[in-house]
Amino acid sequence: MVMRAFIFVVAVLGLVGSAFAQPQSVESSLTLFENVRIFDGKSEALSASMNVLVRGNTIEKISKDPIPASSSAGVRTIAGGGRTLMPGLIDMHWHAMLVRPSVPVLLTADVGYLNLMAGAEATDTLMRGFTTIRDLGGPTFGLKRAIDEGVLPGPRIYPSGAIISVTSGHGDFRQPFELPRTIGAPQSRQEQLGAAMIADSPDEVRVRVREQLMLGATQIKLTAGGGVASPHSPLDASTFTEAELRAAVEAAENWGTYVTVHAYTPDSIQRAIAAGVKCIEHGHLMDQQTAELIADKGIWLSTQPFPDEMANAFPPGSLEREKAYEVFAGTNRTYEFAKKYKIKTAFGTDILFSPQLAPRHGQLLASLVRWYTPAQALIMATSTNAELLGLSGKRNPYPGKLGVVEEGALADLLLVDGDPIANIALIENPAKNFVVIMKDGKLFKNSL
Ligand SMILES: [Zn+2]
Repeated sequence: MVMRAFIFVVAVLGLVGSAFAQPQSVESSLTLFENVRIFDGKSEALSASMNVLVRGNTIEKISKDPIPASSSAGVRTIAGGGRTLMPGLIDMHWHAMLVRPSVPVLLTADVGYLNLMAGAEATDTLMRGFTTIRDLGGPTFGLKRAIDEGVLPGPRIYPSGAIISVTSGHGDFRQPFELPRTIGAPQSRQEQLGAAMIADSPDEVRVRVREQLMLGATQIKLTAGGGVASPHSPLDASTFTEAELRAAVEAAENWGTYVTVHAYTPDSIQRAIAAGVKCIEHGHLMDQQTAELIADKGIWLSTQPFPDEMANAFPPGSLEREKAYEVFAGTNRTYEFAKKYKIKTAFGTDILFSPQLAPRHGQLLASLVRWYTPAQALIMATSTNAELLGLSGKRNPYPGKLGVVEEGALADLLLVDGDPIANIALIENPAKNFVVIMKDGKLFKNSL
């Protein structure tokens, strides 16, 4: 009876299913940015001098003329001085839990330690101007909740939860002595953490996908092919059958969202598209035929300008480092294909196991100028990325417009000391050049 009463109380209070809780409602505070030039996330040119009023978590008014609210009490006024107001940056391939630890630390450390590391990194991520990240694998549900509740500063997180991988796939970090796996046996460490789950049949895939959806995943991530950081998967391997991929797609679509897959090679990309996958992560080893297919089917390409230093996460002479260089060699061709075939292309970095690379987050975005104008690069990292976030449909935990500066959009804003379209290098030094950082209408930095 006591137990039943307890369950009733828990249910009434809505404590169950809190993974879907909306972020804390913000106070209806007013912030007025005066005399700012706007990069709105879509246009390649800055606006003339404008005034922007933020009420609560929303951009309420943008006007050339003075906004009367400036005279009312309680409004926080920021004198822009002609600086640039732009949308917060979005990283579409992030691993909030995996940025700082090395692979051995991830697999052996206390989970409390891992979460604290990830929390500190999340705060740094926000302070680099990345106000939203799409997390493509790792146990981020708790971190997301803590950030949304204001426990610590961090970006909005669109979590995938655990990466779903086949045995020996990109996502299988088990040791050979842990084989064979018996269905129903205790889980491996990576599974206990919720970092990656193994699935070797359509039925197992369905279970794993639905588990992540129950935990609050906004999209599902599968590994359709071999990868760099994984110890057992050759780069050329295709690691799920089409039926397995389709099982994931069905489960995700029944839940109103979509599947994205890690895939480098033509075979793994083509199979994933045949199974109904909506987004390809990486794609660095694609060929022309595959690029045309991606374009024709309107599939998203979420790719990354990997810097060579990224290979330093792996020991010299290791197989992982060799695989990294093989992938990096395809970066230029992939961006050339993306441009040539007008593929819907999202920006992300996939910085993982590299605490030394994370501070260069903005530099990786700026490195897109090898293929795009600064304006095009910034549009990709704001409104285009936000468009891909929209594929989560009703599973979007942050209803409202992201990636743009316009009336009615969510107030995720950066005030840049200069013009990032004329000088994209400004985003490489956020500590100096992002003088205001606002997320959800709240100020996290104001150095003016
Ligand atoms: Zn990744």
